[in-house]
Amino acid sequence: MKILVINAGSSSLKFQLIDMNGEVVIAKGTCGRVGAEMGEFEIKTEQGKFEKEVAMANHTEAFLVVKEALTSGETKVIDSLSEISAIGHRVVQGGAIYKESTLITDDVIKGIESLCDLAPLHNPAHIQGINACMEVFGKDVPEVAVFDNAFHSTMPEEAYMFGIPYEYYEKYQIRRYGFHGTSHRYVSGECANIMGKDLKDIKLITCHLGNGSSITAIKDGKVIDTSMGLTPLDGFVMGTRSGNLDPSVVTFLQEKEGWTPAETNAVLNKKSGIAGISGGFSDDRDIQKEANEGNKRADLARKMQWYQIRKYIGQYIAAMQGVDAIVFTGGIGENSQPLRQNICESFAYLGITFNAEENAKAIRGVGGELSGADSKVKVYVIPTNEELMIARDTKEIAEKVLG
Ligand code: AMP
Repeated sequence: MKILVINAGSSSLKFQLIDMNGEVVIAKGTCGRVGAEMGEFEIKTEQGKFEKEVAMANHTEAFLVVKEALTSGETKVIDSLSEISAIGHRVVQGGAIYKESTLITDDVIKGIESLCDLAPLHNPAHIQGINACMEVFGKDVPEVAVFDNAFHSTMPEEAYMFGIPYEYYEKYQIRRYGFHGTSHRYVSGECANIMGKDLKDIKLITCHLGNGSSITAIKDGKVIDTSMGLTPLDGFVMGTRSGNLDPSVVTFLQEKEGWTPAETNAVLNKKSGIAGISGGFSDDRDIQKEANEGNKRADLARKMQWYQIRKYIGQYIAAMQGVDAIVFTGGIGENSQPLRQNICESFAYLGITFNAEENAKAIRGVGGELSGADSKVKVYVIPTNEELMIARDTKEIAEKVLG
């Protein structure tokens, strides 16, 4: 069975075609600058990487470009679209409605639409992607929505409620939803496999550290807390996002600087975090280089990041009353050796021992165990694979539909 995985943004469309027989990626690529006068298309297959400039006025045209690339010329990997059995869509916000991956029907599209207020940058783009996909593939091909926050839907009320008047929860559904759920779910399952245990029998802390970062506590196979909140702005300092701060900082700055809500959002999402502190460096490689060469603000940014991550892990150990394993994933989690070393060594008091050699080996898609044989808590690097998780869910649901 071949599954197409789609991540539709407002002006982009990322895709992966996965053969579930062996879970092999046959082709993957991106349509960029959708809606602009000229767009960019990129596809990678076994034959190599191909790029071209092509205008794609909307998502439907982008899908037609993908269709042509997959079925013809030097990028051809299938004879016709009918070889694709089902399509899985990443959907950022499933609110409190969708607690698991769901077959897309007209009602589900309406449901995703009803959550646009909670994810104004993402859900409208996902709907465009779903509708365009239906136009190109027809309505007989099962399409499945895999929600970023479904995995977090098990959080108890005391973890997901904010301490504001209850009426705003009732009126606007303001609460913690969390994000990166598909990644946390994938690596937690992999971790249980590596440990040879049932996920239900271990206490896990999964750290998805990338441009956007979140940490999740998993107990009895369920998420009990996660660092991102109503939006992906919550948590600890990220590439360009502030993470949590005293809410008065926001109102203070709005008054002093005269910022509108949109301007406030832009500063907190795009100009803050590691970039805001260091003076523009958001990439972990730049931060390490600058800090090692004596840039004090880059050094401060990484120290803040490490300190805040340590505090989140500590909080979640307290929340779960213990921890069996900590997992690092995401671009930074999978690659930043100094960060991993700092975090592991800061938990020596818990009985975590650190294997520097394994830390050096776990890089660029190679996982590994960072804890020593005598460590009381296991620490792993596990490369994430959200697309594969989406494809697995899509396959499972499509098989039921297709019989
Ligand atoms: P993500 O958002 O998960 O794609 O992560 C992207 C981030 O991962 C980049 O901005 C870098 O900070 C970090 N990253 C990627 N590759 C490396 C590397 N080889 N060493 C350190 N950090 C890396």
